[in-house]
Amino acid sequence: MSAFDELMAFQRQTEALAQVGGRLGWDQETVMPEGAAGQRAEEIGALEGVLHSRRTDPRLDGWLKAAKAPDAAGEAQLRLIRRSHARTMKVPAKLAEEIATVMSLAQGVWAEHRAKEDVAGFLPTLRRVVELKRQEGAALAAGGDPYDALVDDYEPGMTGAAIAAMFDAMRPRLVRLREKVLGAAAPKGVVGVFPAEAQLALSRELATVFGYDWSRGRVDLAVHPFSSGSGHDVRITTRVSETDPFNCFYSTIHEVGHAAYEQGIDAAYALTPVGQGVSMGVHESQSRSYENQLGRSRAFTGWLFGRMREVFGAFGIADAEGFYRAVNRVHPGYIRTEADEVHYNLHIMMRFDLERALIRGELDVADLEAAWNERFRADFGVAVDKPSNGMLQDVHWSCGLFGYFPTYTLGNVYAGCLVKALRGDLPGLDGQMADGDVTAATGWLRERLQRHGGLYEPRDVVRRACGFEPSEGPLLDYLEAKFGAIYGV
Ligand code: ZN
Repeated sequence: MSAFDELMAFQRQTEALAQVGGRLGWDQETVMPEGAAGQRAEEIGALEGVLHSRRTDPRLDGWLKAAKAPDAAGEAQLRLIRRSHARTMKVPAKLAEEIATVMSLAQGVWAEHRAKEDVAGFLPTLRRVVELKRQEGAALAAGGDPYDALVDDYEPGMTGAAIAAMFDAMRPRLVRLREKVLGAAAPKGVVGVFPAEAQLALSRELATVFGYDWSRGRVDLAVHPFSSGSGHDVRITTRVSETDPFNCFYSTIHEVGHAAYEQGIDAAYALTPVGQGVSMGVHESQSRSYENQLGRSRAFTGWLFGRMREVFGAFGIADAEGFYRAVNRVHPGYIRTEADEVHYNLHIMMRFDLERALIRGELDVADLEAAWNERFRADFGVAVDKPSNGMLQDVHWSCGLFGYFPTYTLGNVYAGCLVKALRGDLPGLDGQMADGDVTAATGWLRERLQRHGGLYEPRDVVRRACGFEPSEGPLLDYLEAKFGAIYGV
């Protein structure tokens, strides 16, 4: 066996075990009996130990030095294994262990203090998390910017400076759009009770419409919707509110976007590093394209309006135009996950600035709440009323996910580019979507982007798919055109 084949055989088992770990996590959020929590933590811990020792296995160095890739996909495999191995080796084992322990407990501490609206009680834990992530960032950056090193975990090749430049270009246009829209009359929302079973049936239909492969997936309920797994087992979750059917429908479409990406990767790459979505930003570009740019389009909502009338009868909206406006209603709110397309990126920008300052040591944890509240008032025009609507709302920082937030907006930016390009190639798309047929769009995304998995670097795969250099321009043009028309501004 060649060094390359030996390395790939070893890596395949590591990937398989990582998939098992992911499935334990899925199980924990969906069907695990409550009393199993303690044992589950031990099971996951044991598996993490096995994975860590495989990722630091002394044979890896030799294989990586000797391996000759047989083709371009092999080159990509080596590049990804090298990157992950180098990352693991840069962080001292003791620090990695402490991070794992502290983060697993911090999430519970965060949830407890969020429920009590108690920022002060959470601060010591947050301070410890920030310290550890700063140490990890410094170890990874080896003299460079620690925040860049953390971003690189989620979005290889992206830097804080590049994100800041993009966000600076976006913010004035978004704030201007927000002010114009909020100065106009708000459209009516849906009214009534939408039975859970009927919502779930229609959400399964939506998953099918958006190309979810049920033979390699399933949908369950969870508090926070997510997608889990890759290759031939990609599961999603959704949630139901009987007064807000869009929550269920658009959460489902969003997660189908993530899942379709994983399911759409060339089957030859399954259980290899290339056989997974290439970055969080590119992942989010798929979910946001499906959910917003396609799912909330005038054409597709026309079809959805008809289906909802068939399933639920009347719900206070007279016609497809009114329904489109209801689906895309802009409302100022505190909570990022409930934000509309106009507000969403403003939420991300403030988190990015705050977390970057924390990691670079420019903002002290003790001053975070004041900094959050001040920025929120400046960008959203309202004062934060309680911490659970402010700096305690997101789970990310408690789990040490610093550098993750910007990938949400990057996903929106990439989605803007991808949908601009696919609309150029598919002039009949709106006519098809008006009949509930999105296959031309999802097929375009699969062929141009999804099937490549990790073959190309994140920005590169988007550039290849679009045929132009990705930028924030197409997203901003789309938002201004769409909401300008809906609100007549
Ligand atoms: Zn997502």
